[in-house]
Amino acid sequence: MTAPAHSRDIKGIGRYYGPCGNDGCPLTDIEAPGLISVTNAQSVIAKPALVPAAAKSTAAAAWDLLPAMVATSRQSPEGPCARRRVADRCGICRFCLTAQIKAAHKNEWEKAADLGTRVHAHAHAEVLGGALPYDEEVAPFVAQHVAFLEAWRIDLDRHVEAAELTVVSRKHGYAGTGDLWLHLPLAYDATTGRTTFTGWDRRRLWLLDGKSSMKKPVGTVYADQPLQLAGLRFAEEAVLPDESVVKVPRFEGAAILNWRRDAHALIPQPTGRDVFKAFLGAVELQRLFHGQDVKAWERVDAPPVVEPKAVA
Ligand SMILES: [Zn+2]
Ligand SMILES: [Zn+2]
Repeated sequence: MTAPAHSRDIKGIGRYYGPCGNDGCPLTDIEAPGLISVTNAQSVIAKPALVPAAAKSTAAAAWDLLPAMVATSRQSPEGPCARRRVADRCGICRFCLTAQIKAAHKNEWEKAADLGTRVHAHAHAEVLGGALPYDEEVAPFVAQHVAFLEAWRIDLDRHVEAAELTVVSRKHGYAGTGDLWLHLPLAYDATTGRTTFTGWDRRRLWLLDGKSSMKKPVGTVYADQPLQLAGLRFAEEAVLPDESVVKVPRFEGAAILNWRRDAHALIPQPTGRDVFKAFLGAVELQRLFHGQDVKAWERVDAPPVVEPKAVA
């Protein structure tokens, strides 16, 4: 969610990882466009919840603007603002209202993404040290992160392996940002999918990814989340903040950590080799789309048929 040093947004194809420009950067030899980001690869999958969420947001915006919609309903849908630059539009005509309603879901998602970035930054600061200015909106989420760490009796010095680090797979051409590598007293049985308590002093290494939301219930999970976790789990290398490279360790399991204002939930998910294989399918599919130049595809017509001359 945060903007790590090695990632950038490339116009038209989204987030890719590459060299950061620092001396000794281990990604200096990565060629453009770079390593596709885990979330960018994952976004090739249609998320069934997105369309209903957008429709709901659009309907809510229309109800909010109902008086203005009634007042402008006799105007032409286009109007003079259709031909004006965004900065010069009036904001109150029928065309402008329509634009506003159409943008509502995007604004909502951008707000949620911004909140997610801030929650992650504060959660990482809590673990890694380093104070951030107080953020009223974020504070309840951070309190839940602290409650999570306390509930699992996390000693920050002994039980945290790493936080907010870049993982890289040169072999498969992707990279991503992992939230937390943490020793938890939990065992994961891949066959049954069940997680069991091992004992406070018998901890194993887990990979966690935090998700914040203002509205969704604390138990919310999505079918595509395991792909992202598997990508982070099975990358070969990790780049630390000082640009040193370490091998990604073996993990007992991987889990989503849902942060809400009044609750949190740790939800282990299946992230075995089979899930990783599916994730690599998403990497391959998204790379194929990003590499395509559809404008270069030309139509072809059958050559004109020369009618045979009538025999005299
Ligand atoms: Zn670098
Ligand atoms: Zn207007």
